[in-house]
Amino acid sequence: MSHATSLPSLPVPRDVVASLPVYSKAGGALAPLWRASSNESFLTPSPAVLAAIGSAAQHCQQYPTIDGDPLIKALSQQLGIAQDLLVTGGGSLAVLQQLLTAFAGPGKDVVFAWRSYEAYPILVRLTGALDVQVPLTANHRHDLPAMAHAVTDSTAAIILCSPNNPTGTVLGSQELEEFLASIPAHVLVVLDQAYLEFTDDAETSFQHSLTLRVKYPNLVLLRTFSKAYGLAGLRAGFLVAHPDISRHVRAVSPPFGLNAVAESASVAALADTEALAANIATVRAGRSNLQAQLAARGIDVPASGGNFLWLPVGDASAALEGACLAESVSVRCFPGEGVRVSVGSRQAEAAVLSGVDRWQRS
Ligand SMILES: *Cc1c(COP(=O)(O)O)cnc(C)c1O
Repeated sequence: MSHATSLPSLPVPRDVVASLPVYSKAGGALAPLWRASSNESFLTPSPAVLAAIGSAAQHCQQYPTIDGDPLIKALSQQLGIAQDLLVTGGGSLAVLQQLLTAFAGPGKDVVFAWRSYEAYPILVRLTGALDVQVPLTANHRHDLPAMAHAVTDSTAAIILCSPNNPTGTVLGSQELEEFLASIPAHVLVVLDQAYLEFTDDAETSFQHSLTLRVKYPNLVLLRTFSKAYGLAGLRAGFLVAHPDISRHVRAVSPPFGLNAVAESASVAALADTEALAANIATVRAGRSNLQAQLAARGIDVPASGGNFLWLPVGDASAALEGACLAESVSVRCFPGEGVRVSVGSRQAEAAVLSGVDRWQRS
């Protein structure tokens, strides 16, 4: 008798657990000098944010507010919207998970574009709902007519990602409005705007999405402090939704989901408009420079609204990743599809170009 069969059987997780895709990690055995793999900010936190972190740290023996009240108040003032439309949490992914927990589940399905953000199938399947992946167009854009067509009586939600991770493509305001007009009001439409700040008309397009949300109350806007605000390591995000949606999200949120340090840092980052503007300007300049340098090497990348570019090199993706790692820069490889590279750090951008040159020589 083998030893294993004599062991008592351990508790077995829900079937869905075995079906979850694994969130990919940047490749490479050695720690690279430069990181262009996770769309992080290239900047360390500003002095104002560091000061807020320091003073919040001194009160860590206390619980934060249950719902993240100080951040909700600051957001409400800055965005000019009522506080009850806002739900905060430990990263926008946590907020999205809460939204899906409240509205999706067994017997429901959730539609999103593919390839898009790799967390979506994990979060959707976790609820017990079915994920319905609608292929991007040949131009790496959301195929909105096909996504609308995929909606059935069991569809609980549609997730749109603009700019789309990893392809960078941005939904136009008119196509977005036409799409919303074509979707039944009882289906949630989540617009993930993680990279909104890096688009060329961020301010007007966010105001436009707020206007759309009033006209189409099933629209939910998802934002994060992880990218342009540079707080990925602290975990803070929020959504904007009709009060009859947001209150259900709040109901399923774990209490104290936004930690006190993340909350203070987010409030400070929100107020530090100068640091934000400098970050955005650096990213936009790096993005157009890198895009031009890639074009000069014969690599066409889709126009990106994010702090990253998508190199759709297909079967050569793993080789390109290897060449970048050889230049000591990590990138995000989706084997057989393409490689996503983050911008903002001039050293990382230069190392990526060296990696491309190395790959093209090989
Ligand atoms: C990075 C990213 C997020 C951010 O998630 P957080 O949990 O807020 O760090 C959300 N959506 C997309 C598409 C992203 O790329």
